[in-house]
Amino acid sequence: MFVFSALPALIAGHLLQSPADPAVEVRHLVLDSRRVGLPAGALFFALRGPSHNGHRYLPELYDQGVRLFVVEETAELPGSLSAYPGAGIIAVKSPLAALQALAAAHRAEFSGPVLAITGSNGKTIVKEWLAQLLSPDEDICRSPRSYNSQVGVPLSAWELNPERHTLGIFEAGISEVGEMARLAAIIQPTEGIFTNLGTAHDAGFASSQHKLAEKLQLFQGPQFRRLFYCYDQPLVRAAVAQRNIPGLSWTRHAGQPADLYFALDPNSTSGITSLHARYARVRLEAAFTLPFSDEPSIENALHCLAVLLHRQVEPAEIQRRLARLHPVAMRLEMKLGRHDSYLLDDTYNNDLAGLALALNALSRQSRPGRRTLILSDVLESGLSGEELYARVAALLPPAGVTRLVGIGPEINRYRHFFTLAPPAGHPPLTADFYPDTEAFLASLDPNAFAREVILVKGARRFGFERIVAALQAQQHGTVLEVNLDALSHNLQHYRRRLQPGTKLMVMVKAFAYGAGSYEVASLLEFQRADYLAVAYADEGVALREAGISLPIMVMNPAPDSFSTLQHYRLEPEIFSFDMLNEYLAAFPAEAQPSAAQPLSHSVAPPPIHLKLDTGMRRLGFDEADLPALAALLQQHPARLPVASLMTHLAAADEAEHDDFTRTQLAAFRRMAAVLEAALGHAVLKHALNSAGILRFPEAHFDMVRLGIGLYGVDASGRDAAALRPVSQLRTTISQIKTLPGGHTVGYGRRGAATEAERRIATLAIGYADGYDRRFGNGAGTVLIHGQRAPLVGSVCMDMCMVDVTHIPQARAGDVALVFGEGLPLPELAARIGTIAYELLTNVSERVKRVFVSE
Ligand SMILES: *Cc1c(COP(=O)(O)O)cnc(C)c1O
Repeated sequence: MFVFSALPALIAGHLLQSPADPAVEVRHLVLDSRRVGLPAGALFFALRGPSHNGHRYLPELYDQGVRLFVVEETAELPGSLSAYPGAGIIAVKSPLAALQALAAAHRAEFSGPVLAITGSNGKTIVKEWLAQLLSPDEDICRSPRSYNSQVGVPLSAWELNPERHTLGIFEAGISEVGEMARLAAIIQPTEGIFTNLGTAHDAGFASSQHKLAEKLQLFQGPQFRRLFYCYDQPLVRAAVAQRNIPGLSWTRHAGQPADLYFALDPNSTSGITSLHARYARVRLEAAFTLPFSDEPSIENALHCLAVLLHRQVEPAEIQRRLARLHPVAMRLEMKLGRHDSYLLDDTYNNDLAGLALALNALSRQSRPGRRTLILSDVLESGLSGEELYARVAALLPPAGVTRLVGIGPEINRYRHFFTLAPPAGHPPLTADFYPDTEAFLASLDPNAFAREVILVKGARRFGFERIVAALQAQQHGTVLEVNLDALSHNLQHYRRRLQPGTKLMVMVKAFAYGAGSYEVASLLEFQRADYLAVAYADEGVALREAGISLPIMVMNPAPDSFSTLQHYRLEPEIFSFDMLNEYLAAFPAEAQPSAAQPLSHSVAPPPIHLKLDTGMRRLGFDEADLPALAALLQQHPARLPVASLMTHLAAADEAEHDDFTRTQLAAFRRMAAVLEAALGHAVLKHALNSAGILRFPEAHFDMVRLGIGLYGVDASGRDAAALRPVSQLRTTISQIKTLPGGHTVGYGRRGAATEAERRIATLAIGYADGYDRRFGNGAGTVLIHGQRAPLVGSVCMDMCMVDVTHIPQARAGDVALVFGEGLPLPELAARIGTIAYELLTNVSERVKRVFVSE
């Protein structure tokens, strides 16, 4: 525990203001005003990112009761210090460095072993599996999920409790040079695992060797004893030797000078792997069976096995634990529930850190309606029941939970914590309790869950997947899976390209390019985008009704929708004099303010966005229109409030037209200057779409308009590797038929006969789902068991057929990937002469969207 007054020395800061209680102890670290939990003892670090400034949230945090702050020396605080009476405030050069220094000091108070995991793949799984395998022997503190970043590692290390934990397991991930040394200083590992060196894109590094050298910096320092690594990775082996890192290596090849030899039985039956282990140093030979047979799982398990053998756990005991290894649910799945509900399915584990993360995900949902939490006993906390459930209860109001279903003996025993009056400003909580999952299911009325967001969070042994199954909407075989983490990743990728202060408008037209407008908009609101844009008024109305409050531009509003726009605070794009005149007619002069009758909010016309045509020749005012336009704007300043001036480029993604693009940008500058002079003040200006953002950094103006890039498709042709695919369209095999030679397939017998016998799979997707007819007859392909299967015959309304002769393991019910990882959209689009935009936006609304995040 650290007393606040001791911090300045620890984190190289100076005290700006002393707290009311000079002996106050720091208990929790807070980085996000939306995730405070208990304010007593909470210390907020005001971090700064490309588009984020933590200092802005000080007043809000103060109102929530937070009294301890670390701020940046040079930052201007909102309000003067007197706005924060009784608060302790420390100024430092870098709040991130201060957070890391505090975590490092905390880690140094722990004298037990700490194992650090890095590498390209498998970090989280190895960490989770090791925790499962060692939990009978140790009280383990581990990073929650994949908290392995510059911010995640200090938060994880802060959870180490010297009085109760006997082992720490933390993962470390880096994307840039210099980052690993900082993580190593926090973790101070005594042991380590290097999982593997992958070939994944790593823009921040010159080469694989460079990346490896950087990563191995984790395993240094006088306290470091042992690195577990695979001898069969030559680069890793050489680098470990060169740096004299003390190691324990394992190999799968006979005759290698590694410490451990694992001989895998090539004849293992499917689904399991038998192996023989030889650990010469302690003369141990033993046989093991792993409950899986895929390569990545085997590699991950062998790392764990090396650690267990080194710790001299009895082989028979190791085998018992291995048999119970269960897959790691890496992500929280968002599913459609019955009666317009949403389910956040997190039924893998339930410790305090995991619960806090899941509640964060819940609080991010801006969809209106009740927030329900179905919660089992919380395990592995090491706290007394009193303290644990007091903390759990304190987490619920800030996450907006208004209904709790508590399941399990422990939560029942401490139910009184959940019936206390909520803190000021929070609605009361209703709570029901059940002794076990069976009792809940027996009395479950699915109609009691409607139009709400339900977080289902339970430890494995409570079997909450049965609750999810009972509350989930029925799904037809085709699903569009949207990865919200990939979306956030892509958003950050573009943000990093912007100057500080440049605003970001995100295009969520056409159902957010097919991905689901509400969910995408909700995430963007959480990520603090500045503006959203849709094509039609209805789309904007739907977002407002779903609770989205960001400013929204409507690109093509019908004149008869102007009053709707006003009602829903939507801002029209205006591109012609006809529209301007209709706008003036919709908001007549009588409604204008006077000294006696100021304009009330409800009758003020919404701000407008003027579209200037600089070469697209589609919509917008021409240069010749400017005098008349300027005159109108001057004549009606209150009835035509201009929010922005915009233009759209015809060929932002095509280098051969760059000269033309530059003339468009020059025309835009010229035209905007004329209008700003007429208005007498500057307004927001914006011109660039996704490709333009990357290709014309000099023309970002005040705002950019991000579209397809957010959804993971690189339109600029230079950045594909840095983006993550967001959407994955999957369907299932309905039936497989074996066709003798000479038989045709489908309508018009267009699936031509072949001489040889074929296996044909019928898939549950057709053109009514948005699967293009042009994919028929061999033009398209899907992935089944990782192999490509070409289309046979025509695409029908609800189904299509593929040839799986070369995929003998294909069965009815198996998944077929239509697009996603391994089947990139640009390639598929090229096969039928279209563009990725069309494939994305064609996925019909009857296809269920499933949202996942890690
Ligand atoms: C759709 C759209 C964009 C975004 O284009 P992308 O190529 O998807 O980035 C930008 N501006 C306007 C006016 C648009 O209609």
